[in-house]
This record gives sequence, C-alpha cells and structure tokens, in this order.
Amino acid sequence: MPLVTPHTDTATGAEHIVGPFTQMSQTVANFLWNTAASNIPQDLEWEIISLTLAIAALLWFLRSGHGSKGVDGRVRKAGLLQFLLPKDIYTHASARVDVWLWVTERIFYPFWAIALLATVGPATEQSVISVLKWLFGNSPELHSNLAWMLLYSLVTLLCYDFVFFLTHYAMHKVPALWALHKIHHSAEVLTPLTRYREHFIDGPIWVVGGAVSYGFAAGIFGFLFNGGITEATLLNLGFFAVLFGFNGSFRHYHVQFHYPVWLSKWLQSPVMHHVHHSYLQQHHDKNLAVFTSIWDRMFGTLYIPEVDEYTPWGLGPDSQSEHQTFWQNTTGPFRDWYKMLTPRASSARRSEREQS
Ligand SMILES: [Zn+2]
Ligand SMILES: [Zn+2]
Repeated sequence: MPLVTPHTDTATGAEHIVGPFTQMSQTVANFLWNTAASNIPQDLEWEIISLTLAIAALLWFLRSGHGSKGVDGRVRKAGLLQFLLPKDIYTHASARVDVWLWVTERIFYPFWAIALLATVGPATEQSVISVLKWLFGNSPELHSNLAWMLLYSLVTLLCYDFVFFLTHYAMHKVPALWALHKIHHSAEVLTPLTRYREHFIDGPIWVVGGAVSYGFAAGIFGFLFNGGITEATLLNLGFFAVLFGFNGSFRHYHVQFHYPVWLSKWLQSPVMHHVHHSYLQQHHDKNLAVFTSIWDRMFGTLYIPEVDEYTPWGLGPDSQSEHQTFWQNTTGPFRDWYKMLTPRASSARRSEREQS
C-alpha cells in the first residue's frame, strides 16, 4: 500500500485536509514577499520592545538600580535611563556590527522563508496527515475549543524547542557548523538586535528546523480536527509569536531577568542566555534551547546562574580579534572552512591542541 495517498478535492467527494500550517505559511509567505519587495526589513514588534522595557523598569525599581550588566559582563548600579539604554553598550562597535549583520540577514531571510518555510512546512504537514490517514483512516473530526488550541500551541512550542535544541547543539559541537554559529557568539555586548546576529547563510538551517517542527505539530492537529484548528492567541498575536518575540528580545538584553530556580528548571529565563553568550569555560555550550529547560536538563547542558553572576560576552581574548568587524564576521566561516580543508593548517592546529 502506498504511504502517501494522492490528494483529491472535496468536489469529488474525497477528503483533502488543508492543515492550519499550510494556510498560515501562505499568509507568512505573502507577508515576507511584500517585505522583500519593499526591501525594508521589518521585525522587532514595538509591543514586545515596550514590554521588555516595562519589565526592565520594574526590575530597576525592585532592585534599587541593580541588575543590569555593563560591557564587561559585570552587574553595576545605574540610574533608570542608563539601566534601560546604557550608552556604552549601544555605542559599542559590536552593537553597530549587529545592525549590519541584521540588515544582511533580513535581506536574505525572506528568500529562505519563501523557498523553505512555504514548501518544507506544508510538505511535512501533508506527509504527517497522509501517514495518520493511512494508519487510522479518516480524520476523527474533533471539535476545537480553547483548551485544544492551547494544547496545539504547547505541542508546537515543544516541537520547535526540541528541533531548535538539536540544531543548536550541532552548531556548537560540529566544527564546520560552529564556524557559522560563531558569528552569533562574537557579540561582545547584548542588544535585542543580537538575536538576529547570524551569518546570512545560517538562515536556511534555522528555517528548515522551524518549518519541520511547525509542520509536524500542524499535521497531527490538522488530522485530528480535519484542518479546523488554529493556535491560541494572546494580544491578537499568535500565542507562540508573543512568547518567541518576548523571549528573543529579553534574552539578548543586558538586564538580568531571573525566574525562581524551580521555574528555571522548566523554562529558560532570559538571563540564562547571558550564560550562553559567556566565554567562561563553565558556561560553554550551556542553555541551548529557546523556551523550555526540559531538553537541556535531559542532555546535561542546563546551567542556572546565580543572581549577579559574571558573564563576559563574546568569543574570549584568544579569538575575539578575528571576529570584530562586519567584514571579519561575514568572511569568517569561509576562512575557517578553508583552514579546515587545508592539511597544513589542520596539522598545525592538531599539534597546538596536543601541546595545550
Ligand atoms: Zn549558541
Ligand atoms: Zn543568543
């Protein structure tokens, strides 16, 4: 029996389930195409930036001016304006490089998204639906309610988080991938734009991971509800989009936002990403997931920092100077790959390692 049955439309009486991810990805593709066409990278929702600043102002008040970090990664006391928007961080050369890397990455991103998100996502979704139909017959046509919508959002989030964790783990452990991901870690200060500090050819890797995980969850729920389910929303934005936006901007903000330790064992607090960006040995390759701590806990990479723990950001004194400018960061992976492929350079590296 063929695993994937041919689709026919409803006019012929046969069932063709169009899952919520297919519909959503078409909307996303249209949006991204318009963005690409106008050539203005749009991101960072102002609502999310406002929420980040409001929480940071509350932390400033509660800790009497303590809790934000300086360029050196150490906590310092500051007045409100200096606490929220410190001049030394936002005028740092690293923050300027963030802007240029963001612009480059955003120009290319819509093309990856159109090419991959709009194809890999629906293809995954349709494959999952086909397999489920083959296994269980027609959709049980369950009726959606808020609880199901929340469950759908939660499953999507867990799938995304797991695929992100695996991708990120590989980015840290496989030298050829680390050469690319290093650009994210070469940031010497953290600003909300650091979230987008990626090499532009990194885009397809993250997009495929996202598309497969959304498509997988959408396929399961699309089958159960015959396509009649959408994600729960918060502030009229996808529940997931709000969490993603908030989490993304606060984890790359220099203000420490800790959760209680018991909660940090389940969810990544924003300050846990300060650890991820630290070059200290004990912080290497820690806190690799985005939302939950579940996967890091399972794979032994969870690190919950102490309040005011010192987290110096960047690649460290040994290699920072090779990844400082926009040009160095853009050409960095190609230089590193070349070195990996050149036997003389790699044998020199081997003997360096043996000596250390
Ligand atoms: Zn990383
Ligand atoms: Zn980061």
